[in-house]
Amino acid sequence: MDLKEFRQNAHQVVDWLADYLENIDQYAVMPATQPHEVYQQLPTEAPQQAEDFATIFKDFEQLIVPNMTHWQNPSFFAYFPANSSSPSLLAEMLTAGLAAQCMSWQTSPAATELEEMMMKWLGQICGIPADWHGVIQDTASTGTLAAILTAREHATQGEINHKGLYAQPRMRVYCSSETHSSIEKAVKIAGLGKENVVKIAVDENFAMLPTELEKAIAQDRQAGYLPLCVVATIGTTSSTAIDPLRAIGEICQAQKIWLHVDAAYAGTVTLLPEKRHLIDGIELADSYLFNPHKWMFTNFDCTAYFVKDKKALLATFEILPEYLKTALDKQVNNYRDWGIQLGRRFRALKLWFVMRSFGVEGLQAKIRLHLALAQDFAKKLENHADFELLAPVSLNLVCFRYHPVTIQDEATLEKLNSQLMHQLNATGKVFLTHTKLSGKYTLRVVIGQTNVTAEHLTALWELLLQEMKSLG
Ligand SMILES: *Cc1c(COP(=O)(O)O)cnc(C)c1O
Repeated sequence: MDLKEFRQNAHQVVDWLADYLENIDQYAVMPATQPHEVYQQLPTEAPQQAEDFATIFKDFEQLIVPNMTHWQNPSFFAYFPANSSSPSLLAEMLTAGLAAQCMSWQTSPAATELEEMMMKWLGQICGIPADWHGVIQDTASTGTLAAILTAREHATQGEINHKGLYAQPRMRVYCSSETHSSIEKAVKIAGLGKENVVKIAVDENFAMLPTELEKAIAQDRQAGYLPLCVVATIGTTSSTAIDPLRAIGEICQAQKIWLHVDAAYAGTVTLLPEKRHLIDGIELADSYLFNPHKWMFTNFDCTAYFVKDKKALLATFEILPEYLKTALDKQVNNYRDWGIQLGRRFRALKLWFVMRSFGVEGLQAKIRLHLALAQDFAKKLENHADFELLAPVSLNLVCFRYHPVTIQDEATLEKLNSQLMHQLNATGKVFLTHTKLSGKYTLRVVIGQTNVTAEHLTALWELLLQEMKSLG
């Protein structure tokens, strides 16, 4: 493809994208694709001869698009969103065009310095202490792994990086029973052993009980373990429960334990001054992350990772072979030393475009709308005799189930709600997922898609009533 063809094709792709986004309501949110269906339609070998773009693009339209789950459909209420927005998409196109590898200042001066400033902006608008340092990681899973590795090296003065785990006491990592699976994964990868993840009990709002945390730490010390790290969650995945950060932070300070805060989804809400109290006590933590790629209209991937002690982070990851040394290393940030990977994408550009295009007020307005829509939807459920809320609506996730008074048997309720969810999703008009809360099968509606409006919630409500009537 020469540049003349590139120009033509690129215009066509942009037009296609604009049409796609304009009509996205008309695509089934979740396709009816069967396992192996796409695979079986693909040629089993790479082409020997060049194919023209028109042919490739036709296959994209016919084989790929109808078999995708359409995350940017405003009726996507499943999991947590992976939002995008027009400015983010444009920045991502430019990032691909520049195609720079941003491992160090020298390989990408503007990308490095823009990242430094974007993390400062984000920290300011989200209430992160001004003396902390930020870096963009690819995902929350990687950010949490970086935190646990940093905690590990910090607690052992770099011994494990140096000599391995052989001579160390068994280290413990504490989190609530509602914590995301990425914590256990990080503990496994860090070589600490998943049986050393201690799950702390939660209260009736699914938030960690600090008294239980304190007890578990004391017991572990008695038994000769080394309490290493506590992971507090702001906005759990099942129900957006908020762990009490200040109380947990005070315990960690007194016990000299690393406190990492996982706010992967909910962190965006601290853009609102009236919600800043959710991270009250943040200054007692050691690291914090949230995903602009979930709720801040910045397309995947982009995790904002903040750390109080930059030296501890760098001491964990810094490695300087001769071929990477530059004359400027002492004056600049080389972000390859701030995390796991060497090579890095230019992710700061999309944050810059998003924050400038929306403005802080524009971002806040969207988030406030989502919170209000969630409250409205919860009220509708509450006022209906056959529905039951199963968790407080602390943000924009509504956890509920169908529960007519005549049915008390848990197994029957599970079957009915699972059927209800499958019926709803099979319409292609909406997509929601489930969880379990206190053993109860729970439907989740997350209202955080970039372009979701009151009309989409009205349509969901009507569909819900309709499908409920057709249940056995
Ligand atoms: C989504 C989520 C994660 C994992 O996020 P990735 O960026 O996909 O790794 C971790 N913790 C919480 C609370 C989440 O909601």
